Amino acid sequence: MFCEQCEQTASGQGCHQWGACGKSPEVNAVHDLLIYCLRGLAPVALRAKELGISTHEVDLFACEAIFATMTNVNFDGKSFTDYIRRAIRDRENLKAQIEAKLGSPQNWSALSCYEPNFNDSLAVQGQDCSLQFIGQSGTNVDIFSLKLTVVYGIKGVASYAFHAGEMGQEDDRVYQGIYEALAALDRQDLTLDDWVNLALKVGEINLRTMELLDAGHTSNYGHPVPTPVPLNVKAGKAILVSGHDIPQLEAILKQTADTGITVYTHGELLPAHGYPRLKQTYPHLWGHYGTAWQNQTKDFAKFPGAIVITTNCLMPPHDNYQDKLFSIGPVGYPGLNYIPDGADGVPDFTPAIRKALELPGFTADETPRQVTTGFARNAVLGVADRVIAAVKAGKIRHFFLIGGCDGAKPDRNYYTELVEKFPMIVLFSRLLAVSSVSLTRNWVILKAFLAYWMWDNVTMLIRQFKSRSPLLMLLR
Ligand code: SF4
Repeated sequence: MFCEQCEQTASGQGCHQWGACGKSPEVNAVHDLLIYCLRGLAPVALRAKELGISTHEVDLFACEAIFATMTNVNFDGKSFTDYIRRAIRDRENLKAQIEAKLGSPQNWSALSCYEPNFNDSLAVQGQDCSLQFIGQSGTNVDIFSLKLTVVYGIKGVASYAFHAGEMGQEDDRVYQGIYEALAALDRQDLTLDDWVNLALKVGEINLRTMELLDAGHTSNYGHPVPTPVPLNVKAGKAILVSGHDIPQLEAILKQTADTGITVYTHGELLPAHGYPRLKQTYPHLWGHYGTAWQNQTKDFAKFPGAIVITTNCLMPPHDNYQDKLFSIGPVGYPGLNYIPDGADGVPDFTPAIRKALELPGFTADETPRQVTTGFARNAVLGVADRVIAAVKAGKIRHFFLIGGCDGAKPDRNYYTELVEKFPMIVLFSRLLAVSSVSLTRNWVILKAFLAYWMWDNVTMLIRQFKSRSPLLMLLR
């Protein structure tokens, strides 16, 4: 195997024996095989779009399937057999529609005619596809690196698009851009400049996709406002919701409304508390539990209720909490409780609710403590006059843009150290949270466009340096 798609990558150079994320070589290979099949689907979908044939269902599927190959999303080989079958089926359906519309058979590339042998090892076939992909770049490591940049960029775009699509926010240019980039990966005639330009194009698409995601969140839940979030638990039955999926958090809140269960967020769902309509509508959305995603094996074991993981980051679960852990959507792990979508597209969370009611829950209230979230752009603009006045008065002399977040390893503290070295009063904007992007190659390009999970796209904090702890939490 070879994978360098995230910041956990082994020795900062690439996982080649086993994924540092827990991904086996076999799972890595079926991820690669799925991407290979989607590359074959892409030109067919583009042709269908040209001819005015609807590709909407295929577009949504492609985004979900690509998202499933992201770090810490899906480790279940069986899911990928299903995704690969669907990719081939959708491709062939579109081909049939295109040929019916044009009235004649078309010449499709070998990639668009490729079909894996489902009676044989998909992992072995995936390895062959990976070797072919590596071999196609010859000795030009810059081109190979840029191709990976495009692949990883598209994975980020598709992940955002998947979430935006859940909230009805779509733009066909995004799907078109994803297909164009995937189709380009089959081309051998592109120069280094072409690949740089394509990587930058992916960045443009990504910004548009983030706009869609932002529109989905703010139109449904209101613009974030600074909101104190309890870090203390309260007595009673509990469900912990992890991942990034606010609509799925809302679905859980709806389904637990009259159960007496208290709902906590975990990991990257902390900013959900800043969206005012969620808090107003669901008072049993209480607080935030646990620390960063990489500590979940400890935090989940201690949580005395059910846990639902809506999207990444899932780590290989330990036996001492696997029975109370549930996944949905593209998230999977062999043997893990999986709650499928219902007929209305929303999972029926009854198994998780039942588990939460069986488990003891918290036995006592803890001493209150809190962190504040919700410093998004409207919060910044709301105090723009004061910021401008402070600038004019010379009280604010620098603006710092924090474009990333620290890694899981103790020595990946760049951003924390940076902030610690800033002067006494500063204004921070946290633009991107690039938590799982390989930074080993093309750092500048990656930082420019790979935004991996950004729920609050601009965070402003004016803080006295000595009380910086809430800031460090936000910086992870
Ligand atoms: S996703 Fe990250 S940790 Fe997992 S195999 Fe790839 S580079 Fe390694």
